Amino acid sequence: MKVAKRIDAVKPSATLKISSIAKQLAKEGKDVVDMSVGEPDFKTPQRIIDSAYKAMNEGKVFYTPTKGIPELLNAIAEKMQKENGVPATADNVIVTPGAKYAIFEAMMCLIDEGDEVILLDPSWVSYEACVLMAGGKPIWVPHNEDFSDAPIEDYISSSTKMIVINTPSNPLGVVYSKEFLKKVRDLAVDKDLLVMSDEIYEKIIFEGKHYSLASFDRMFERTITINGFSKTYSMTGWRLGYAVAPKWIIERMNVMQSHSVSHPTSFVQYAGLEALKSDESFIKQMVAEFKARRDMIMKKLNELGISYAPPKGAFYIFMNVERDGDKFCEEFLKNEFVALTPGSAFGIAFNEWVRLSYATSRERIEEFLKRLEKFIA
Ligand code: PMP
Ligand code: GLU
Repeated sequence: MKVAKRIDAVKPSATLKISSIAKQLAKEGKDVVDMSVGEPDFKTPQRIIDSAYKAMNEGKVFYTPTKGIPELLNAIAEKMQKENGVPATADNVIVTPGAKYAIFEAMMCLIDEGDEVILLDPSWVSYEACVLMAGGKPIWVPHNEDFSDAPIEDYISSSTKMIVINTPSNPLGVVYSKEFLKKVRDLAVDKDLLVMSDEIYEKIIFEGKHYSLASFDRMFERTITINGFSKTYSMTGWRLGYAVAPKWIIERMNVMQSHSVSHPTSFVQYAGLEALKSDESFIKQMVAEFKARRDMIMKKLNELGISYAPPKGAFYIFMNVERDGDKFCEEFLKNEFVALTPGSAFGIAFNEWVRLSYATSRERIEEFLKRLEKFIA
């Protein structure tokens, strides 16, 4: 007996796997510094929690429309228009249990056996897995040296179906420039390609400006924008994300959703609605804290002479350890109880790199930096 090819080709999510090992070690009483998984360490704002309770108490505990409750779809469309310059209506929106599921669902609906999907090297772990599960072929495109550009044009073939862009990027923290995104637009329009634009870190930016690809001329009709509540509102465990795309794509994703997860949890959708209604004070505080942490780590890495990609957004630093990154992570965890994610999980050319997530307190970051200095000495 054998499992299906689509899952045989895929490894477990490295980010979630390492974080489980770190949690297990902590449970065994080890003083673990977990800088592996990317999830904000702040409490979800109280009014969002209260709104979920309220919805439950009001009896909003039954099935909802599979695309999501109309109030939330409208609020997302309005947000996309106002903040992102994307001309979406509720017909262009579907809410999903996490952004990850929106990515999976979109890939399953759009990628056929043999279709090629352009991924920038390095990219977040789940894009490649979703492409493979859909039967597609990931095509890794290298970045230039400062990670500001990538020669995508050299990797497009007659089988290319989609380009995936993630800005700000996980694991790089790079915020792509308008010029680079315009180049992606020109290629997509010229070659008639779809673009998946994962903008889940759009609000976590320290330098540079966020641009939504779907707002660019002739892009709305070919872009699947991915976003969610996990990072912006510190709601990873709530599982709420969304896709914004042309109606023909959303309709198909809705068919798939109706036969798989049905919809995200009813009262969680009401919590999402509350999140979108709120002012941005929580986000501002969170971003200021992330920036302080980032600066603290960069200062030490500079002192230690460790090079890294320019982290202008998200909450990761992707650094070059100049030795086997898998072994580095394994030994760092075994000897110093620090959990990081090896660069090999994010692409093909970064076996000597590792990713750290600074979604942990400054005190723990101090401890991490001490252990790092000791470990590399
Ligand atoms: N996209 C990127 C780039 C991510 O880092 C993550 C990590 N969680 C996701 C999508 C998925 O987020 P979620 O499923 O928690 O909404
Ligand atoms: N996206 C986060 C990370 O890269 C959370 C874990 C996951 O979903 O991969 O660590």
